[in-house]
Amino acid sequence: MNTSYSGIGMTSQRTRMRMVERLRQQGIRDEIVLSVMGEVPRHLFLDEALADRAYDDKSLPIGFGQTISLPFTVARMTELARARGDQSDLNKVLEIGTGCGYQCAVLARVAKVVHSIERLVQLTARARKNLLNARVTNARLRHGDGHKGMPTEAPFDVIVMTAAATHVPKALLEQLAVGGRMIFPMVKGEEQHLWLIERTAQGLREKRMDAVKFVPLLPGTG
Ligand code: SAH
Repeated sequence: MNTSYSGIGMTSQRTRMRMVERLRQQGIRDEIVLSVMGEVPRHLFLDEALADRAYDDKSLPIGFGQTISLPFTVARMTELARARGDQSDLNKVLEIGTGCGYQCAVLARVAKVVHSIERLVQLTARARKNLLNARVTNARLRHGDGHKGMPTEAPFDVIVMTAAATHVPKALLEQLAVGGRMIFPMVKGEEQHLWLIERTAQGLREKRMDAVKFVPLLPGTG
């Protein structure tokens, strides 16, 4: 038996529950999101050497200069994605910036299907393996430039971008369904905040949310 694996297996449920308590104290209110955060095995999305720190409130490297989003940020973005009034499951979600696939796995628990685009081919491959390990079957990954979105699958109920932009890519707004919402970090000077844009029948409505820290949205593919 692989003892190091069973070791993390035994502690991960407990540490995950501690993480959920912390998320509650930090202001996450959606019980579905809290229960999903308690179920998705975050340690499976990190290198084995970092697995014992997977549930800390820290930014951790996932390779190629990129980082996994903080548990609070993942929970907050998922909460905003779900807060559309009727609280029903989402149908189609688009994620820009797959990274290690963790946010994608969380979104996949509250949506019928998640399409996710990553510009680094090595991370697309890694995320695919991680999602398979975590037994996520309703995520579709694509290597490409997220600025363009995925017009063939549009419209989306929700678009989540997990890299910070200086402006909202126009193509993404065009792929948002009426009644849909886009959640993304935007950089202004030294500051970064989460923004929520809702598409209503009358047009777009935008709102600035929490201060955050994401890696930049980069052009093209790598
Ligand atoms: N959601 C990820 C966060 C990864 S960090 C997670 O849970 O781990 C952000 C990711 O966005 C990085 O992997 C980076 O390579 C990717 N990225 C940056 N610019 C991009 C672009 N234009 N298109 C697609 N992915 C991009």
